[in-house]
Amino acid sequence: MNIKDNIEEIEKRIVKASKKSGRTRDEIMFLAVTKTHSAKIVDIALDNKIEFIAENKIQEAENKLPALTNPYKEFHFIGHLQSNKVKKLMKLKPSLIHSIDKFSTAETLNSFCIKNNIVQKILVQVNTSNEKSKFGITPEETVDFVKKVSLLKNLKIVGLMTIGMFTDNQLIIRDCFHKLKTLFDEINLKKIANVEMKYLSMGMTNDFEIAIEEGANIVRIGSAIFGDRDYR
Ligand SMILES: *Cc1c(COP(=O)(O)O)cnc(C)c1O
Repeated sequence: MNIKDNIEEIEKRIVKASKKSGRTRDEIMFLAVTKTHSAKIVDIALDNKIEFIAENKIQEAENKLPALTNPYKEFHFIGHLQSNKVKKLMKLKPSLIHSIDKFSTAETLNSFCIKNNIVQKILVQVNTSNEKSKFGITPEETVDFVKKVSLLKNLKIVGLMTIGMFTDNQLIIRDCFHKLKTLFDEINLKKIANVEMKYLSMGMTNDFEIAIEEGANIVRIGSAIFGDRDYR
């Protein structure tokens, strides 16, 4: 496994997929998902043009981020967020939290932001595959949820996030992404105060090209850079 080669290969594929969707490479943010990989490994990626990194567990990120030697441009949080972890997460200064799907968590986060006089950018996570195991609100609930969260003044909704269905059927995966893009456009047209539909975060190792074709402008890629994860 060669991280440098893997990154170059993914870059080429992103360029190709963005062309196919009538966009350019610089319109797509390539997030490296570094979960389960050591600071040493992440440093190699940062040495090879990776600028944006993402973690899904707060404790892991707490240990890893200070251990990095190379600088990164942005840290994104992509995992499930519980109210009691908000403070710890915010210490890590996430540029974007991708996974807001519960109003009570949004309220806790907003209170923290008020106290600290900051505005936090967030994405709303939508469960487009309808799988019970997945986090995220349903597509039907999304517009109302966005309106409700938009009233929390120290949070700024800047887009939507989803995880495509885990299946080999590309049509089903494409349908998940298409559903999110449709919602994104619908919310955009409503011009809700304090809401900006800027980022569409969808696409992982197995489906990022489909996601880009369907309009993604943030892809979250782990295994294709670092190889399979070892959870032992
Ligand atoms: C792990 C993870 C990814 C990356 O998955 P790969 O298939 O390894 O690219 C992307 N998004 C989220 C939310 C994840 O938890």
